Amino acid sequence: MIEKKDIIIIGGGINGIAIAGQAARLGLKVVLIEQNDLASGTSSKSTQLIHGGLRYLQQYYFSLVKKALHERSLLVKMAPHLIKPIPFIIPYYKKNALKRCILRMGLFIYDHLSSGNSLPKAKGIHLTIAPYQSFFKSAIKQGSVYSDAWTHDSRLVIEWALLARRYEASILSYQKILALGENEECWQVRVEDKFNQECHTYEANILINATGPWAEGFQKQYLTDLPHTSLRLVKGSHLVLKRELPDDHAYLLECADGRVIFLTPYEPGYCLLGTTELECQGSLEDIRVEPSEIEYLLAAANVYLQTPLTVQDIVHTFSGVRPLLDDGVHTAHQLSRDYHLALQQSKKGNTVLTVLGGKLTTHRRLALEALILLEKTRPAWPAVKDEATLLPGGEPLDEVGFRQRYSFIPKPVLSRYLRCYGTLCLLWLREKMTLSELGIDFGLGLYQAEVDYLLTQEWVKCADDLLWRRTRLGLCLDEIDLGRLAEYIRNR
Ligand SMILES: Cc1cc2nc3c(=O)[nH]c(=O)nc-3n(C[C@H](O)[C@H](O)[C@H](O)COP(=O)(O)OP(=O)(O)OC[C@H]3O[C@@H](n4cnc5c(N)ncnc54)[C@H](O)[C@@H]3O)c2cc1C
Repeated sequence: MIEKKDIIIIGGGINGIAIAGQAARLGLKVVLIEQNDLASGTSSKSTQLIHGGLRYLQQYYFSLVKKALHERSLLVKMAPHLIKPIPFIIPYYKKNALKRCILRMGLFIYDHLSSGNSLPKAKGIHLTIAPYQSFFKSAIKQGSVYSDAWTHDSRLVIEWALLARRYEASILSYQKILALGENEECWQVRVEDKFNQECHTYEANILINATGPWAEGFQKQYLTDLPHTSLRLVKGSHLVLKRELPDDHAYLLECADGRVIFLTPYEPGYCLLGTTELECQGSLEDIRVEPSEIEYLLAAANVYLQTPLTVQDIVHTFSGVRPLLDDGVHTAHQLSRDYHLALQQSKKGNTVLTVLGGKLTTHRRLALEALILLEKTRPAWPAVKDEATLLPGGEPLDEVGFRQRYSFIPKPVLSRYLRCYGTLCLLWLREKMTLSELGIDFGLGLYQAEVDYLLTQEWVKCADDLLWRRTRLGLCLDEIDLGRLAEYIRNR
């Protein structure tokens, strides 16, 4: 049987899923097809910042920064549980007086471009006082502090997927495309589920290629009649370290080569250090952190830190690939992080939209602009509205009341529920009164009720989906607990 839709979206990263969510809210019939887990591509490998991008001011990308700052102010309201404003500290060495001056100007412009939002403005800070004096080397006495926001990237994708499904979009993960073609009327795609081998065929007038770093390869494989775009694939790697940061603030550190890296909070007790910027070599399926990247990141951070970070502190690493639109002129570092939407008409008259580049921060705007572009080719469509809707877990919650009501659950577990899920955790907690009602304890407060919720509601198909993209419990669960969890999931 063939299912008819208005839009077929390929790619379940933040951009594809946000388009699915916004289109479904308009009442359009959408199917989204992802080859692996949702958010398994770049959208779970970011630095986790919802930011304007202070460093893009150096390249005069003012409009990108302004757009991203505007999105930041909307996103903190749409997902207050997932997107948290935090202070970012920039430490200075005294000898860099000129750089300091330029940076202060940059921060002034950054605040100016974000005018209208409520985050604290940038200011100077003394780093010779607690808790910083034992964190930074003694030669570092001053710095600046500015505001940006921080998130859990893959959960942001899942929340958009939940929103899309609420409006009846079909969100399909672990699908293999068996065939993708078209006739005079529409696109047709046949897919096979990688877990149960079930096959389905979908038809729609509009095809969206939201495959991120795979977008150019996708064009070459399936859209052979159309000109393709040129992407520059740039790898960025991160280290997760077993270290706590003073006051859970984030740190922007300037490197000797003029780049900046971030040291940010991660899960409690851990921090994240990144990122590098290297031209991508080899297959996209085999992207990994090189020893030279580890050396570079640790050395760059240790220029500032009193207690050096070492390889022994590293508990996990990950690398992502930035799909940047190649202009043939700029270096990878200088290329714009803005997105480009390429609308094309096939020889048979069907519409295809390819999403190129973009940032986690600008996904909502990108989705909106994609639909506005498509709306022009479909006058009968409902009007696209620029709205900032609350994401599913972002409903208001009385945190004190919540903690009292579920006081039988250990505090760190309740904190994790709030941080990861917001009000979504009420879906499995409901009327529960005792820990035993939450079922099997897989370790560190991962109970069966949460696992069952993730399996039935959040597209979890294997342990990795749960451990690395729905939660980050992969960081700390031991081998025995991991084995028990994997077996439970396999037998469901
Ligand atoms: C190192 C690094 C750090 C970053 N840090 C930040 C940050 O702090 N803040 C910020 O705003 N942005 C950041 N970004 C940018 C941001 O992460 C990306 O712009 C964003 O995640 C891209 O999302 P996407 O949906 O376009 O691509 P992806 O997330 O890669 O999604 C594409 C999806 O398409 C799927 N796919 C590919 N081919 C097929 C196929 N044939 N069939 C079905 N599915 C297919 C893939 O499996 C993948 O899941 C960073 C990027 C990198 C690399």
